[in-house]
Amino acid sequence: MKIAGQLSIDDIPRICPLLSRVANPQYGEDGTRVVEVAGVRFGGERSVVIGGPCAVESHQQTVGLAHAVKRAGGDMLRGGAYKPRTSPHDYQGSGLEGLCILSVAREETGLPIVTEVMDPRMVGEVAKVADMLQIGSRNMQNYSLLSEVGRTHKPVLLKRGMSASLCEWLGAAEYIASHGNLDIVLCERGIRGFPSGEYSRYVLDLNVIPAARMLTFLPIIVDPSHATGVSAMVEPASRAALEMGSHGLLIEVADFSLGVPKCDGMQAIDAATFARVVQFARARGDRTRKHEYAT
Ligand code: PEP
Ligand code: MN
Repeated sequence: MKIAGQLSIDDIPRICPLLSRVANPQYGEDGTRVVEVAGVRFGGERSVVIGGPCAVESHQQTVGLAHAVKRAGGDMLRGGAYKPRTSPHDYQGSGLEGLCILSVAREETGLPIVTEVMDPRMVGEVAKVADMLQIGSRNMQNYSLLSEVGRTHKPVLLKRGMSASLCEWLGAAEYIASHGNLDIVLCERGIRGFPSGEYSRYVLDLNVIPAARMLTFLPIIVDPSHATGVSAMVEPASRAALEMGSHGLLIEVADFSLGVPKCDGMQAIDAATFARVVQFARARGDRTRKHEYAT
């Protein structure tokens, strides 16, 4: 029986002529395209560890956390000025003011910034401040947004849709690439599964890391914060992700002395825990850089 729209990974070379290893063999069987963000190299020798708040709430909170991430040895600062929230009545982020705060944080620490853009009309504005544009899980299939970030020359962090197959995820990346921007880093952030919400927020799909690395040359990192939704799970999940071949981590960090964050407080870790994750990433060095899963 033939079903319309049914896809398997054998379709990836057709869906992704630019990004599939088979269709575009320039990186060979196991080479990775290095995506450089203001001197930070994704897919190179060193794992990239990104930390920062879920949402940019205030100057004191975000600039303070930027210094903490820097002291811990982190490579980049994360923080959403625009937040995709389930309820329109929930905190939506600090918008343009948040972007200004992020640029002060970069000025003071030298850390490059990754921040989410949700609206194609805002890509230019966000790109003025961001060193890397984040496409959130809920927008992974917003094809006009993908096309718009594809037209910029900014590196893109493409989160996996929470219900997206690998084919759909790589198809989304191909939209960005098809507009001339191949500086894309994939980010696994947990998918919906039958136990989602029972003991963790989503299901951290570690298996997708070697699979993605087999099928595309794009670097891939993991967000253990949204994947677990439980701060105590973030550190072990980070170690597991690196063992499975992740090129880096995107982690939510909070300063609990300022109170509970407005957004995702239960999954944030403190600066000391973040520092341990960075140390682990550095100590294990290059062990699984070359993936061992090529067929
Ligand atoms: C985030 O990184 O803050 C975020 C909203 O993540 P996701 O899009 O994966 O839910
Ligand atoms: Mn969050």
